[in-house]
Amino acid sequence: MFRKILIANRGEIACRVIKTARRMGIATVAVHSDADARALHVRMADEAVHIGPSPAIESYICIDRVMDAVRRSGAEAVHPGYGFLSENSRFSKALEKEDVAFIGPPTGAIESMGDKITSKKIAQDANVSIVPGYMGLIEDADEAVSIASGIGYPVMIKASAGGGGKGMRIAWDEDQTREGFQSSRSEAAASFGDNRIFIEKFITRPRHIEIQVLCDSFGNGLYLGERECSIQRRNQKVVEEAPSPFLDGKTRAAMGEQAVALAQAVGYRSAGTVEFIVDGDRNFYFLEMNTRLQVEHPVTELVTGIDLVEQMIRIAAGESLSFSQSDVTLSGWAIENRVYAEDPYRGFLPSIGRLTRYGPPEESSAGPLLSNGRWEGSARTGEVAVRNDTGVYQGGEISVHYDPMIAKLCTWANTRDGAVEAMRLALDRFEIEGIAHNLPFLSAVMDNPRFVSGDISTAFIEEEYPDGFDGVSLAADELRRIAAAAAAMYRVAEIRRTRVSGRMDNHERRVGSDWVVSVQEKRFPLRVEADHDGASLHFEDGNTVRVESGWKPGDTLAELDVDGTPLVLKVGKVPGGFRLRTRGADMKVLVQTPRQAELTALMPVKQPPDTSKLLLCPMPGLVVKIDVEVGQEVQEGQALCTVEAMKMENTLRAEKKCVVRRINVGAGDSLAVDDVIMEFE
Ligand code: ADP
Ligand code: ADP
Ligand code: MG
Repeated sequence: MFRKILIANRGEIACRVIKTARRMGIATVAVHSDADARALHVRMADEAVHIGPSPAIESYICIDRVMDAVRRSGAEAVHPGYGFLSENSRFSKALEKEDVAFIGPPTGAIESMGDKITSKKIAQDANVSIVPGYMGLIEDADEAVSIASGIGYPVMIKASAGGGGKGMRIAWDEDQTREGFQSSRSEAAASFGDNRIFIEKFITRPRHIEIQVLCDSFGNGLYLGERECSIQRRNQKVVEEAPSPFLDGKTRAAMGEQAVALAQAVGYRSAGTVEFIVDGDRNFYFLEMNTRLQVEHPVTELVTGIDLVEQMIRIAAGESLSFSQSDVTLSGWAIENRVYAEDPYRGFLPSIGRLTRYGPPEESSAGPLLSNGRWEGSARTGEVAVRNDTGVYQGGEISVHYDPMIAKLCTWANTRDGAVEAMRLALDRFEIEGIAHNLPFLSAVMDNPRFVSGDISTAFIEEEYPDGFDGVSLAADELRRIAAAAAAMYRVAEIRRTRVSGRMDNHERRVGSDWVVSVQEKRFPLRVEADHDGASLHFEDGNTVRVESGWKPGDTLAELDVDGTPLVLKVGKVPGGFRLRTRGADMKVLVQTPRQAELTALMPVKQPPDTSKLLLCPMPGLVVKIDVEVGQEVQEGQALCTVEAMKMENTLRAEKKCVVRRINVGAGDSLAVDDVIMEFE
């Protein structure tokens, strides 16, 4: 076994690999850029080597610099994580030349599978069913149009070197094909340094279901079940689960066998993932093979109890697989939610800045596969597990240089419903402040009836949130629970205030017991009756709700028991009440005396300023180009300009038909949030 390995990556995946290596008694070397000098992976590793400036191109994906670190540290093997150099065959060759083991597949397998066009051809030869399309290169927009009309709309325009949902556009007609070809091509060039484009049929409303494979160097190949990753935004996975609520045993075995056959056709070794899209009749089509550890691998670990990183390390060290296909059993259900630094209320645009607060839910369930280790505890027999893979810490910075993923929050339970409910609570408990994040959106998805029923497809987000996400309105009975909780908490805070102000005697009596709680346009007049364990809230309509908790003023998280079921609230202060967040809702909750409530009802509502005639920059970024001119009439959905942020080109489009009155910026300008890009008549 290796004595020392280097992890050529950063963030959560570097931390995750370090944990398993440590458990195996292997020393670890981290590499880091300028921006990551104090990153978590650097602090967790036994040694760290600085490899260059912050941009990944000058550090994490610079082969020479990583090789230098390998030499300097004397590492015997390198784990590449995902992204960066993980699917770069020049890197695996460079390691081979210096006799350092690559904890991943052989160079040949990376080369054949790393390219989408080549891999489709190999899959076809191995009798794996593939998405129909054109498997050649496309030179220009005219050729793209002629090929697209040959395949039949809709089509998917893809970068052959693509990954991470980048360099990919759907087109429904000629114009979209032209626009899509250009933008795929420039995005592919910027992200992968390779602008080769191909086109295939766009399968409407498919599911994305992928198979985890594991192969050793002795010809043994296994599949570790599937992951369903249909909840995607911009072809980028957001929620994943294992198993899939859609597959039956027969389809699972057929997909698993094809996946292993494909892996063996290219002499695969290590962990890998074969991605398929699956239509409503359970026909499945090969999409691509990812020749690395996948972001969403934890859900497979949670249902199989197999540590994939450990297996990768063992295989790279020349061991053979110690178990066979029949030893692989799927148990219970696991869900992963990707917590991203992106603003769900502003079209999910990336957000950067300091994490002034970072409080993930506690990982739970003794002994099971949390971030490392096999299942040993009782989680498989009825409990719930929470696992959070992360690479950030409170006070740390989410920078423009890297991926905006903050954490991968996973839950496990015996049933899908159990895992979903555990996830709802875990999201409620997750505290992130200082930057915009998608926690409210994830909560909304976990409560979405279609998600809950398992009736999902890759179109789920655009179908369920066609106008984007503008928060959650909770059902009346949920609001009542929140009103009860707010009244009980308010009473605690009032008693505290009364004491602090010196009126020590009889404090409980000075705090009134009749309140009106206003939340999300609803008003709940109620009476508080408190005892030593909590409070009973008597509502005007005769209902009583019981609230118990250990909340104290100043606590930012309230764990309450409301009529016997848990309610977790993120608590902030506002004059006369609280800002409460739960289940994706962000609410200003006022707790007032009946007289105050009466007066408030008479106050005019303050109107926010009108920004409907302005195009505001939704995130800090760089103007790439302006697509319109002053005086031009633009149609709804027409591209207005392109802003680059976090290496993604974001096209800002007209929300309605209008005429451009003024343009305030030009290509190359860097913008802050809310800078006015242009004004309309
Ligand atoms: P990447 O390398 O970026 O992961 P993939 O080829 O795996 O690219 O595609 C990413 C996602 O895009 C898929 O999970 C699926 O949702 C969608 N997708 C890709 N190709 C098609 C297609 N031909 N039809 C429908 N959806 C597709
Ligand atoms: P004490 O030591 O007098 O209990 P506290 O400040 O802990 O002082 O609470 C004052 C009163 O507020 C308690 O007697 C109880 O009725 C009520 N109370 C305390 N905590 C909560 C809570 N988390 N939720 C609802 N009511 C509470
Ligand atoms: Mg993919």
